[in-house]
Amino acid sequence: MNIKEIQNSKISDIDFDNLTFGQTFTDHMLICHFRNGKWQTPEISPYKPLTLHPSASVLHYGQAIFEGMKAFKDDQEQVWLFRPDENFKRFNRSAKRLQIPEFPESYFFEGLNKLLFLDKDWIKSGEGNSLYIRPFVFASQASVQASAANEYIFMIICSPVKSYYSGGEINVLIAEEYSRAASGGVGFAKAAGNYAAQFYPTSEALKNGFQQIIWTDADTHQYMEEAGTMNIFFKVNNTLITAPTNDRILDGITRKSIIDLARYQGIKVEERPVKVEEIKSAHQKGILKEVFGTGTAVVVLPINSFSHQGKTYKLPSEMTFAHSLKKSLMDIQYNKSDDPFNWRRPIV
Ligand SMILES: *Cc1c(COP(=O)(O)O)cnc(C)c1O
Repeated sequence: MNIKEIQNSKISDIDFDNLTFGQTFTDHMLICHFRNGKWQTPEISPYKPLTLHPSASVLHYGQAIFEGMKAFKDDQEQVWLFRPDENFKRFNRSAKRLQIPEFPESYFFEGLNKLLFLDKDWIKSGEGNSLYIRPFVFASQASVQASAANEYIFMIICSPVKSYYSGGEINVLIAEEYSRAASGGVGFAKAAGNYAAQFYPTSEALKNGFQQIIWTDADTHQYMEEAGTMNIFFKVNNTLITAPTNDRILDGITRKSIIDLARYQGIKVEERPVKVEEIKSAHQKGILKEVFGTGTAVVVLPINSFSHQGKTYKLPSEMTFAHSLKKSLMDIQYNKSDDPFNWRRPIV
């Protein structure tokens, strides 16, 4: 690997108490080119703009995928990753579906380790502080031919973040018209275009006072699938219910960690299709206790109400499972508790 270190760090210009999610980037980035049928030697260099041809294939056909992961610093200044092997595996599952050449595991982990080691001062200890890590790859070949490219760029960039706090209530709209993903499509992949397609329906929902959309199955709109870019859980009586993953649902690492932790703590978890009508009827009976989303950025996000067919259903404000499972997960991430599932990986 080639490493070009920064001359002067820009870290002293950063106000770490007032970070807007995803807008500040560390001193370095990792870049690796795919050319002549193989991934070339990765390079770490100062974070800087790229030069691309206007005909770069990604700009026309959207052949691009990404990952989202986090690094945490404990009170002894040790940096930890959370289940990075899962992110790597999912990255290559997404790549395969988008006809992008899979990225070598050794490049990924060596690159990530060196990059985080160089930029470790950007990771602040203390609850809620973390480094959001964004690996991605896109088709860079200069060609407007509508076929898979023969040149790609893989990169990792890193952004310091504070814990997600919206400040307000999270009210969600259950989708009746638009869909996020179709059977046989790319919903399970972190494909760039999946997110672009959500912006219009989500901004329309926002105008009506909803922060997120709960996506339902594209065929019947009868089953709950995901909430925005989070997986979704329902607590009915004392059981947690979440949709099973399939080709329309992103196999969230937070989702599966919450399922494992909940079961470990003796909570009953069901992975099965969740009908909108079932949840509305549970609400009516007073047995719907909590609804929350899970994802790397938010960890666990309690939802305060959902709306369907013009009617709003308020949820109780206690959210005991959401809060306790979030704490259990964050205690593992920040090395404040045992790690019974061996999820932490140190940066050395
Ligand atoms: C990334 C993502 C999630 C959450 O996955 P995590 O691995 O928990 O971060 C859920 N849904 C969608 C659509 C996503 O893109």
